[in-house]
Amino acid sequence: MIELQNINKSYGNLKVLSDINLKIGENEIITILGPSGAGKTTLLQIAGTLDTPDSGHVIYDGEDIVGFKDARLSRYRNRNIGFIFQFHQLLQEFSACENVALPAMIAGMSKSKAMQKAAELLDIVGLSERKSHKPTEMSGGERQRTAIARALINNPKVVFADEPTGSLDSHNRDEIYSLISKLKSMLGITFVIVTHDLTITEFADRIIHMEDGKITDNTPVEQEIIINTDTDCQETV
Ligand code: ADP
Repeated sequence: MIELQNINKSYGNLKVLSDINLKIGENEIITILGPSGAGKTTLLQIAGTLDTPDSGHVIYDGEDIVGFKDARLSRYRNRNIGFIFQFHQLLQEFSACENVALPAMIAGMSKSKAMQKAAELLDIVGLSERKSHKPTEMSGGERQRTAIARALINNPKVVFADEPTGSLDSHNRDEIYSLISKLKSMLGITFVIVTHDLTITEFADRIIHMEDGKITDNTPVEQEIIINTDTDCQETV
């Protein structure tokens, strides 16, 4: 679905990403781990089209988006990619429902349809009772759930999350990871998550380690296969 080819990025003399190659498939949770300064956020921003590499290709469904002009890139991003940041970045003057609906309205959906879809998403993330609350009237975990619903409003195939639980306590953190896992199964979305938090590896399909601007490990997590010995199998012969 997304392929990063030979990505390089420097800030002045500082080489932040060195010849990165990465394939991001459909319906997987990928976590990117590594020490501070390894280049994780820069990689996420380039993969998510928020930043451009100095060289290399960012291929979405066979098309290199690196050469897209700003307006085309913004439109593409709005319609195909979701983002969740450490700090929810909800607009304080709007309700949860309005915040979630906003990217759909920007994409051209009528306000009434966008609000209806936002309400459905808030139901899915467990905030049926908080739709008309403003961000200041919600807990940290609720605000982050709202931000997740907002990331999903335009039916993205991929959501990029940068330290999505970085400002939450362990209870809310676990709830957010369970929710991401549920959304992946329910909606078939890929999540790419930068984190320092090793507990997320429990929910991940693939763990990528970065160091000094390079991918040092890119390992699928072996899923536990549960064999149910109590099934009522019928003999066919
Ligand atoms: P990580 O997410 O792994 O902590 P980052 O991708 O945020 O790493 O940053 C990698 C390196 O690039 C760091 O040394 C950081 O200071 C530097 N860096 C990131 N963004 C900029 C920028 N806009 N200008 C200059 N240096 C930057």
